Amino acid sequence: MISRTDVFEEAGTVASPSQALAAIRLGPLAILVLSAWCGLVSGLLEVGTTVLRKQAFDLNHLYWMSRHFIWLVPLTNLVIFLLLGVVLSLLALRGRRRGRWLATRLLGTMALLPVFWAAFPRIYPAAGLLLMLGVATRLVPTLERRAAGVGRLVRVSFPVLAALVPVLAASLWGLDRLREWREDERALPPPDSPNVLLIVLDTVGAGHLSLSGYNRPTCPTLDELAPRGICFNRVRATSSWTLPSHASMFTGRWPHEVSAGWVTPLDAAFPTLAEFLGARGYATAGFTANHAYCGTDSGLARGFTVYQDYIFPALTASHMAALVNRPVDGLEAVERFLEDRLDFDLLRPALQRLWWLFNNDRKEADVINREFLDWLSRRRQPERPFFAFLNFFDAHYPYQLPKTGIHRFGAKPRNNREMDLIDDWLQLARRGPSEQQLAFVRDAYDNCVADLDEQLGRLIDELEHRAILERTWVIVAADHGESFGEHPRVFRHGGSLYQTELHVPLVIIPPAGSPTKQVVTEAVSLRDLAATVVDVLGFKAASPFPGDSLARFWNGSSRAAPAEPAASDRTLSEVVPIDPLNPDPSQLLEPRWPLAALTEGDWTYIRREGDVREELFYLRKDASELHNLAGDPAMEPTLERMRQALSRLTRGPLTPQRFNR
Ligand SMILES: [Zn+2]
Repeated sequence: MISRTDVFEEAGTVASPSQALAAIRLGPLAILVLSAWCGLVSGLLEVGTTVLRKQAFDLNHLYWMSRHFIWLVPLTNLVIFLLLGVVLSLLALRGRRRGRWLATRLLGTMALLPVFWAAFPRIYPAAGLLLMLGVATRLVPTLERRAAGVGRLVRVSFPVLAALVPVLAASLWGLDRLREWREDERALPPPDSPNVLLIVLDTVGAGHLSLSGYNRPTCPTLDELAPRGICFNRVRATSSWTLPSHASMFTGRWPHEVSAGWVTPLDAAFPTLAEFLGARGYATAGFTANHAYCGTDSGLARGFTVYQDYIFPALTASHMAALVNRPVDGLEAVERFLEDRLDFDLLRPALQRLWWLFNNDRKEADVINREFLDWLSRRRQPERPFFAFLNFFDAHYPYQLPKTGIHRFGAKPRNNREMDLIDDWLQLARRGPSEQQLAFVRDAYDNCVADLDEQLGRLIDELEHRAILERTWVIVAADHGESFGEHPRVFRHGGSLYQTELHVPLVIIPPAGSPTKQVVTEAVSLRDLAATVVDVLGFKAASPFPGDSLARFWNGSSRAAPAEPAASDRTLSEVVPIDPLNPDPSQLLEPRWPLAALTEGDWTYIRREGDVREELFYLRKDASELHNLAGDPAMEPTLERMRQALSRLTRGPLTPQRFNR
């Protein structure tokens, strides 16, 4: 127990800092307790500041960290301050007066710093450090003059603050249990209702799949699965990046209708598939490897009873705390600084490894498989049908093959420089890579796609072995593809609406004994998935999801009467600036023009608003979209027809002003 006498002994309020310092007998134990208290206070204040900023002030409403930060940040700060306390106690033991002087000022600075960094993330961390050092130098002597009061505050509040950390952790755990308990209480759907498993292969473009005729065997699993169900050959994602594309799959809405933006989560304006099925007695669970845009803070978790996003394989949990992430992220700047001045290969890998230790929370496919299979095993009500969503991130930049992965295509990276080609792909794409570099990066991507396909195969085998596959509608899709410079200066995804980014795979495998196998060659949109799922489960009459069920391709009656004749057989894709525009191009919110693309029959029309640029491609002769026919006078009638069709679907032009909410 901490007692008044052994920790904070003081001689009341005195006149000057030096007198005060002389009067306080701040022994090693007191320094340790004070350090721990500072850690808890700074951690809890950092959490509060972050939440307040995100909710009220920041343009970026995504946290990009696990929801467990509310207790992991104070815990991390507690550990850091305890370590600091040990060092300061030793210092105080060696030179009592100077040690105490340094200890209190250092503690003051360190305690203020996380709140400042959390409140002003765009100010240089070093500037914040200097500023807080100045504040602490002025503030600490004042507090030293009031040592009695500070001592009392520490003694009284310490147990409360220490208890708050496990309470915050328990509250998250409690909410999770509450959701599970509520699910258990819901009435079961009719007996023999099938399960639904939606598998999204993040960033896997159809153009890189042997399923679509790619010249490398990148997806033997999908090749084998497709003939067992319905394989769609011309599928268009509703957007070329993760959040709006997933939002469309979950709500049946086009990107311009939903709130999902680069820094704006999907709001609750429209019901999601998980909410709908959960309310009808389905068990709902999501397991995602894309933290940034499928994490709990993205809004996609709404309606799921179980939702697993972040993992903490190394020191990554501590990286949520500003006292860890600011210095660690500074390593990148150090690395760049050294790189510009020295030709060295020794220090850089070491810095990269250190950085990676705190940052690498990449969730590989085998982890997603394990999480899902473990969840299946531990379910309390196995008789309750489930809707599960899996997002696999293995093919996403930076195209790192798992350690256990097999290198199948192209040359292996032989040294750090070649590894950097993959690691620095983002920078490389901006500078404009050579053909050789591009080929190297494409090989890396193909290797990742093939490895992911192998993991998918393992999952399917296990589901078959557990006799779950025969009771499940399995839907395998991708949220978007990837560009590798097929068009000038177009790399990665989210910045264009070409086939490379929009053409995605879709294979639907019915439960045993369900519809006939089929290949669908008509163009379809992923936005129809929600309507399809409720249709095949028999909930069509109550469906809140727009779009036409894809069951029309194996069920003649639906096809005769599409729900929205104007939109049927048409596929719209968009990249819309939901977020407020930021004039500073060095920041995340670069000005982006709204993009919209419409595919109808053999034609694709792409329109960029703002400075209005139009592209028209005849896919039958120009599948790679290299010959823009928009300037051809002979194409004017087609162009006008596509313009009007697009405008009908988007209900007017997607001007930037339309999204400035
Ligand atoms: Zn994605």
